[in-house]
Amino acid sequence: MDNCIFCKIVNKEIPSKIRYEDENFLAIDDIYPKAKVHILLITKKHFLSLDEIDDNTLLEEILPVAKKIAHKNGLVTGYRIVINTKEDGGQEVEHFHLHILGGSKLSSKM
Ligand code: 5GP
Ligand code: ZN
Repeated sequence: MDNCIFCKIVNKEIPSKIRYEDENFLAIDDIYPKAKVHILLITKKHFLSLDEIDDNTLLEEILPVAKKIAHKNGLVTGYRIVINTKEDGGQEVEHFHLHILGGSKLSSKM
């Protein structure tokens, strides 16, 4: 998608700190981390949000991938997975992604 920042990151037109990559996903450090470890797991294919994903295989794959990334990045005592979806969900970048947050005890408040 033209003018999509995450598509540009996926295409390596914009640099990022890559934590994981496979055929379907790219994981990068969040540029404005909200936790000691804050990784974004992005689908390589552009979907506006979780609501637009029409490929359930991707959804089946993404949580095991997220767990693997969390563990590989030292989040052995826990972590948080967040998927902000559309306006009311606080989604700012309109390319589906999942947040992996951890590295210290996170507030239980939402
Ligand atoms: P959202 O609010 O859409 O769920 O989260 C978007 C996230 O993308 C935010 O945490 C924000 O800091 C991050 N972000 C926005 N632009 C960039 C960028 O150019 N590079 C990286 N690595 N992260 C970005
Ligand atoms: Zn995109």
